[in-house]
Amino acid sequence: MRHLDLSLQLIPERAHATLDGLQKLGLGGVSIGLLLLVVSVMSGSTVQAGTGFGLVVFGALAYIVQTRNDGPPGIKNNFIMFSSIMSRGYLAWMAAVFMTGFYIILYFYPQHLKPLVVLVNPLQVWLSGSSAWDANGNMSQWFLYGFIYTVTILVMGVRALIKYRHSRYQILRTLSVMFFQLAFAFTIPNVLAKFNNGLYFEWANIWPLRYYELFPYSVEGLISSGGLGKFMLFWAVFSILILTPVLTYFFGKRWYCSWVCGCGGLAETLGDPFRQNSDKSLRAWKVERWMIHSVLVLVVVTTGLMWANHLYGGEILGTWSGRFSSGYGFLIHSIFAGVIGTGFYPVMGSRVWCRFGCPMAAVLGILQRFFSRFRITTNGGQCISCGNCSTYCEMGIDVRWYAQRGENIVRASCVGCGMCSAVCPRGVLNLENGPMNNRTGFQV
Ligand code: SF4
Ligand code: SF4
Repeated sequence: MRHLDLSLQLIPERAHATLDGLQKLGLGGVSIGLLLLVVSVMSGSTVQAGTGFGLVVFGALAYIVQTRNDGPPGIKNNFIMFSSIMSRGYLAWMAAVFMTGFYIILYFYPQHLKPLVVLVNPLQVWLSGSSAWDANGNMSQWFLYGFIYTVTILVMGVRALIKYRHSRYQILRTLSVMFFQLAFAFTIPNVLAKFNNGLYFEWANIWPLRYYELFPYSVEGLISSGGLGKFMLFWAVFSILILTPVLTYFFGKRWYCSWVCGCGGLAETLGDPFRQNSDKSLRAWKVERWMIHSVLVLVVVTTGLMWANHLYGGEILGTWSGRFSSGYGFLIHSIFAGVIGTGFYPVMGSRVWCRFGCPMAAVLGILQRFFSRFRITTNGGQCISCGNCSTYCEMGIDVRWYAQRGENIVRASCVGCGMCSAVCPRGVLNLENGPMNNRTGFQV
C-alpha cells in the first residue's frame, strides 16, 4: 500500500523515499562503477575498468532484484509521467547523451576503449581462438561490443522477468531474447569462428538486416571456407527465403522482432523503461512507412549493384558499388541503427530503429500485412478508453482507436510484444493466430 496516494503533489517525493538500503547500495555501486570506467578510459588501467564494469553489473542487479518488493508486477502507471528519466526530462537527455557518446567512441575513437578490450581479450581468445589484436597490432573493439551488448540484455532481462512475472507470455518472450542473444548472437558465432578460419557468422541476423551477408565477397568467403561455410551460406538463403515467410505466416513478425532479434532484444530489455516515449502521431506513422521501405529499397539496390559489378569484373561501376555499400553501412547501420536507434532510447522510445529503419522489419511487415494469420483481437464492448495500450505501444500504434471500435489490429509495424494486452485493465486485447479470411481492420 506504499504507493496508494491520491495527492499528486506528494507522489514524486514518495517515489524517492521508497528506496530501501539494498536499492541505495545498488545505485551507489552503479555510480562508482561508471566513475571508475571513465577514469580507466583516461588512465588506461585495466584493473579500474574491470572493477568499474563489475560494480555497474552487480550494482544494477542488486537494485533490480530488490525492486520485486515494490508492489504488484507489471506497468503500474505510478510516477512514470513524473519521472525525469522516463518522461523525457533532464535525466533522460543526460542518459541519451551518455549512450550516444558511447556509440561515437565505439565507432570512431575505439582506442579509448583499450582497457576494456584488454579486460575481455582472454575470453575472446578462449571462445574464438583469436585475439583482439591482429598480426599488425591493430585492435578490434567488436568482441567487446558483443560482450557489453549481451551482458546488458541479460541484466535488463532479469529486470523484465521480475517486472512482468505475472505474464507467461512476457516471461517466455524475455527468456527467448536472452537465450538467442547469449547463444546464437554471441557464443556460437565466436566458437564456430575457431573452426572456420576466423570467419564470423551471425546465425540470428538475417539479410537484409545483416546487409552484407549476401554480398559477393561474403558469399565467396563462405564457399571457399569448406563444408561449414557452405552450410552457413545455405542457412543465410534458407532463413530469408523459407524460414521467414513460413514463420511469419503462422506467427506474424513477432517470432523474429520480439523473440529472436538482438536489436529487438535490447529494445525489450534496456529500452523497456522508455517504451511510452514513442511518437503516436499520424505524421510519425507516415514518416515511418516512407523511411522503412526506402531503407529496404536501398539494401536491395546496394546488393544488386555489388553483384552486377562483380559479375562484370568491376567494369560497369568501378569502385562505385563498393562506395555505395560503405556509405550505406556508415549512414544506416552505424549512425541510424547504433547512434540514433539505441542512443536515443530515453527520448524517442525504444524502437526507433525497428520502426523507422530496419529493412528486415520492412520485409516482415509486408508479410504480416498480407500473408499472416496473426492479429490482435479486440473486445470493444469492454474498452473503457483509458489509453494504456496506446501509451505503452513501443511502435507508436494507437491501439485504443481500434479497441474502441472493436476492430482487429492488423498493422505491418506491430512487433507482437504483447505489452498492450498486458497493460489493459479490462482484458480487451488478445494476440491471436487464426484464419486469414477472418482478419479485419486492415491498415498498413
Ligand atoms: S500493438 Fe501491442 S503487441 Fe503490437 S507493438 Fe504495440 S504494444 Fe506491442
Ligand atoms: S483496450 Fe484496454 S488499455 Fe486500451 S483503452 Fe481500452 S481498456 Fe484501456
